[in-house]
Amino acid sequence: TPATIIITVIGVIAIVALVTVAVLQNKPLPKKYKYGIVLDAGSSHTALYIYGWPAEKVNDTGRVVQVHSCKVKGPGISSYASAPLNAGESLKVCMLEAKDQVPSKRHQETPLYLGATAGMRLLNIENSTASDGVFQAVSQALQTSPFSFQGARIISGQEEGAFGWVTVNYLDDRLKQGLETTGALDLGGASTQISFVSDNYDGSESPKNSVTFRLYGNDYNLYTHSFLCYGKDQVLRMTLAHQTQSGPATVLDPCFHRGYTAIKNYTVLYDTPCVSDRKPQPAPASFNHTGTGDFQECQRVVRNVFNFTDCKYSRCSFNGVFQPSLQGPFGAFSAYYFVMNFLNLTDTSTPLEDVKKKITNYCATPWEQIKEQYPHIKQKYLAEYCFSGTYIITLLTEGYNFTSENYPNIKFIKKIKDSDAGWTLGYMLNLTNMIPAEAPDKPPLPHG
Ligand code: AMP
Repeated sequence: TPATIIITVIGVIAIVALVTVAVLQNKPLPKKYKYGIVLDAGSSHTALYIYGWPAEKVNDTGRVVQVHSCKVKGPGISSYASAPLNAGESLKVCMLEAKDQVPSKRHQETPLYLGATAGMRLLNIENSTASDGVFQAVSQALQTSPFSFQGARIISGQEEGAFGWVTVNYLDDRLKQGLETTGALDLGGASTQISFVSDNYDGSESPKNSVTFRLYGNDYNLYTHSFLCYGKDQVLRMTLAHQTQSGPATVLDPCFHRGYTAIKNYTVLYDTPCVSDRKPQPAPASFNHTGTGDFQECQRVVRNVFNFTDCKYSRCSFNGVFQPSLQGPFGAFSAYYFVMNFLNLTDTSTPLEDVKKKITNYCATPWEQIKEQYPHIKQKYLAEYCFSGTYIITLLTEGYNFTSENYPNIKFIKKIKDSDAGWTLGYMLNLTNMIPAEAPDKPPLPHG
């Protein structure tokens, strides 16, 4: 009919006009975007990440980027063991933000995952009924979202290490080009991961540390290990447990500043499977935690959490865990970055001896002066940077065997090209099959 012809003509004119405007403004035409959401349920907090990518050409490395992140208010979900409904409730604000960020016509097709790490691994060891309750509550809350909820689960330490490595190398565009890869060092509150490719590791020695991937036509034999209890909050508890074996009323702690003093509860300190077997019996109700601010002494205390004696392999990091020789560059993220950034030590061309001197100075600064100098930083973090810096240096050099020669191979990073370094992106890429095993087909050769 004439009306249909007129409408069609108007439609064509409108499209031509849009294209002309876009071309004249040198802007790309609007593309169809797809999205995926991952919640990182860490031991101390939960963070939501939204990833986006153009619907076509998903196989291109580096195409998936973080488009939004949201930090959930309050503690990690494992802290809601006795009030699980509140764990679900705590996610609501970030879920509403996600609803605004993802166009509504994409909501239904957007996968939503929640992965919990060492905080929930520990709760599951301690009280599996409580951990089930927390998962039930968060799953219920996420099911009510408009997204396609794919489940909430504890990810293994091996997955956490391997997907952190995938994230870093994907964002750096190293996988598709088959370049030398970057190792990943991740430090959380309750566990820590090390993952890297080493020429002299084929997976046969200690197969449980081996993860193999075929990505874009390249085979990778990844070494990975996750040390449960070796996140910085649990190591702090372990060092305190070590110093309170006789149930004293006062602990003089070299890892805290002179002038720092706080009353701490024995039951709270020992309420984790990482130290529970060490609780002094009988223990007084509380102790006076008093700082003496001495890096060298602090390092002596921190060393006690590592066992360097037993190794049934050709070489070990610590606690009898196999580790091949370190190789290549490393990216160190999460709490490695927070702590080293605060201490102004992210520049690893600073010689290791100078790094130690700087931490020595920080530890030796009286607590009153520290508080005055950094009035806007949370006092809990502020009080712990001396311990955390000492732990990081001890873990890297004595635990993993970094030396002054290869310490500069480590880069302390938060983000790569605007996406946070961490396991979540690698996890989503894997679950959505976004990294093909084989290199995508080259355009066909012309006939003839
Ligand atoms: P997780 O919650 O297991 O991912 O662990 C994160 C760790 O980083 C915890 O030990 C937090 O206390 C710590 N953290 C987060 N933000 C900061 C910060 N700004 N300074 C120091 N530590 C931090």
